[in-house]
Amino acid sequence: MITNGYLLNNKLCETLKKLNINNIQITLDGEPKVHNARRKLRNGNQDTFNVILENLKIAKKENLNVNIRINIDTNNFISSERLLKILQDNDLNNFNIDLGYIENFNDLNCSNIIKKKDFFNYRLNFNNKLLKYGFKNSNLYPKQNILFCGAYSEQSFVINWNGDIYKCWSDIGNKKSSIGNININNLKILENKKYDLNYIFQSECSSCNILPICSGGCPHLYLKENDRNCSIYKFKLKEILQEQILKSEKEVKNGSYNNGK
Ligand code: SF4
Repeated sequence: MITNGYLLNNKLCETLKKLNINNIQITLDGEPKVHNARRKLRNGNQDTFNVILENLKIAKKENLNVNIRINIDTNNFISSERLLKILQDNDLNNFNIDLGYIENFNDLNCSNIIKKKDFFNYRLNFNNKLLKYGFKNSNLYPKQNILFCGAYSEQSFVINWNGDIYKCWSDIGNKKSSIGNININNLKILENKKYDLNYIFQSECSSCNILPICSGGCPHLYLKENDRNCSIYKFKLKEILQEQILKSEKEVKNGSYNNGK
């Protein structure tokens, strides 16, 4: 489950565990002042950072597996290191941490978006910071990624603050794309899958040599911009593998090699 973590108190953690939901992704956008400027409540500026930080401690106590995502652009990348220090100081460095790529889904004037081809360098730089603050760094080795996102799956839903249900997180707030509301009794979901895998296999992706790694990219963006926004692995596979080999060699030497996991 992906959540902003704001309401993740003891009771909810227990409920999630009863429901067998053990893996959660929570996003923090940097140190408190950077995070709070981006992640406001509807009623104004509040310290959402510290509420989420306290909730992360509860999640840790409840043994939930938490993946912390830091969505970055050129403005908050520098803050990601300060965030790692705060998490370390709060004894939260057993969680997985990864960078997320901010995309412009809504044609807003976002001049701070990182170019996709540069994002990998940010990840490499971030990996070194993870080690510095005692976190596990992420493996650069490509993984098979069967579905790009939940919009391909029958069992994945995005819930808006008012209970409206969507298939694609880029549609949030666009009422016409909503497929129901969780507050309605006897809810019948109108549409189970937004995209079909044939959509990938009938495109240029079918002959791409990294297809199972990328799975066709974001269908929403493709339909909007007619651009596949191809994976970095398509262009830099060799360099990435070389980088991974160097990283593994270092880990073997310092005894932290984890056999590619
Ligand atoms: S890298 Fe591009 S062409 Fe290859 S599978 Fe991904 S989106 Fe399709």
